[in-house]
Order: sequence, then C-alpha cells, then structure tokens
Amino acid sequence: MQTHASGLSLDAVSLWVGLLSLLLGAVVGSFCNVVILRLPKMLLENSETAPTHSPQPFDLSTPPSHCPQCSKRLQPSHLIPILSHWWLKGKCAFCGQVIPSRYWKTELLVSLWWLFCAFKFQLLNPTLSLEPLGTLFVTQGLSALLWALMGSALMCLTQIDWEHQLLPDAITQPLLWLGLLGANFGLLNLTPQEALWGAAVGYTSFWVIANGYRILCARDGMGQGDMKLLAALGAWMGPLSLIPLVLLASTCGAIVGIWRLKVRKDLSLNEPIAFGPFLIFAALTLLVLGPKVVLHFLGLGA
Ligand SMILES: [Zn+2]
Repeated sequence: MQTHASGLSLDAVSLWVGLLSLLLGAVVGSFCNVVILRLPKMLLENSETAPTHSPQPFDLSTPPSHCPQCSKRLQPSHLIPILSHWWLKGKCAFCGQVIPSRYWKTELLVSLWWLFCAFKFQLLNPTLSLEPLGTLFVTQGLSALLWALMGSALMCLTQIDWEHQLLPDAITQPLLWLGLLGANFGLLNLTPQEALWGAAVGYTSFWVIANGYRILCARDGMGQGDMKLLAALGAWMGPLSLIPLVLLASTCGAIVGIWRLKVRKDLSLNEPIAFGPFLIFAALTLLVLGPKVVLHFLGLGA
C-alpha cells in the first residue's frame, strides 16, 4: 500500500476527503433549509405590496431556530443535520410536533451532492491525493467546491420556486456571477467566452419567448426569474448545453403538467406551474449523465 508523506495511507486520505465532503454537504444542506424557509418570507415582508410589516426583525438568523408549534428555541443537539431527525424520531423534543421529513431529506441530498462533486473531480482518487496540497489537487478542489455550492443553490431555488413560484435574485444573481468568474479562472469546463455567451443566450432566448407569448396571448407566460435562472445555467454550462437542457425541461414540465391536470386533478388549465424546478432537474441530469444520454432519451441521439 502506498503511503503519503504524512504517514496516512492513500485509502485513508480518500476516506477522509469523502467523509469531509459528506459532512460539509450536510451542514450546507442545513443552511439551505433555513434559506428555503425564510428567504421567501423575508422578500414578502420587505416588498412594497406587503399588507403589514412585522414589528419583529426577521432574517436568516433572527429569530433563532425554534419550533413553529411551541415556539421553544432549539438546542444545539436538535440542530445536527440528518442525525437530529433520527434521534428525535422526527418530532419536536418539547411538544412532540411532527417535523417535516423534507428537512432531513434536503440535508441528505445536498450532502450526497457534495460527495458526488468530490468524486467527479477526482478528489477521492488516490493518485491525485498523493499531493494533497499540490496545484492539481487545489484546482480540482476549488472546481468541486464551486459545483457543490452551485448544486446547493439549485436545491434552494427548486424548493422555493415549487412552493412559492419565485426564483429570488438573491440566489440567481450570485449564481450567474459565480459561473462567469469560475470560467474566467479556469475552474469550469468551459472558456470565459462560452460562459458569457451561455449567459447571454440563456437570458435572451427566454426573453424573446416570454415577450412573444405576451404579445400573442395578451398575458404573461414566463417569469423574469426563469430568464435569470437560464442565464445563470448558461454561464455554468455554455450555450450549446442550453438546447438539450430546455428540451428536457420542457418535456418533463409537459409530462408533469398533464399528469397533474388529468390524473391528480390538482391543477386547472390556466393555472401557471413553476418552470424553475424542471430547468434545474434538466441541468443536473445533463451534468450527471452528459448531453449524449439526454439527447438519446429525447430521441435526438443522432
Ligand atoms: Zn415544539
């Protein structure tokens, strides 16, 4: 077995990097839960159309985490990602109110995404781990960190858009800039020009579709948030990826829309549905499976 200068075996280095990714992902997933729960409310309270302004300050850290039923402040042992839910048996430790399972599921999904990013960028590869502070390891590490943060931001956007039909600028705009800067520093798998064109094509294509629809149908068919989200995804993935991305998102959106309309019957014909989650699902599918598989699935393999 090969041994690193620190005395750790290469397998041990890989194991620690994997565990660290899972742990960081779980902590970030826990923060995602706070953003998903509080950001829409913050935006609503600060908007000019808000019916009343709450006298209590409300942001991501104030008031501290508490049970919505009994209002008791949660203890540090109640806030450990994933594990707390397990040993509290999914209930508030004070009043027994059931805690929605989506909190631990979000933490687990984000945690697994961080592990996937470490794997994808070869951080679990023993030969690369030979030089944990070498240039290659640092570059790959920064790339993995960027993609891990990107996936975490997409997790927040998916749930906020699904629930509130809202894609907050507070997330889409930093995501766009992070993509442009990442490409500029050579940390994404595309050139700065491709990132710039991806952002421009993403925004403009949806802007044209949205305005065309408004002129033809005399009503809004797409929100500003979708344009900004596609601009951000374009900056991370380049202009060419946007074609399979939008095709897959539209196909999935249509399937789910028809299913809700005809089978579940919880949607009426003129009721809008959030498109953001489908764009994000398509983007992640492309990242994990690659454009060839997606185009093949859509019957455009050739
Ligand atoms: Zn409680």
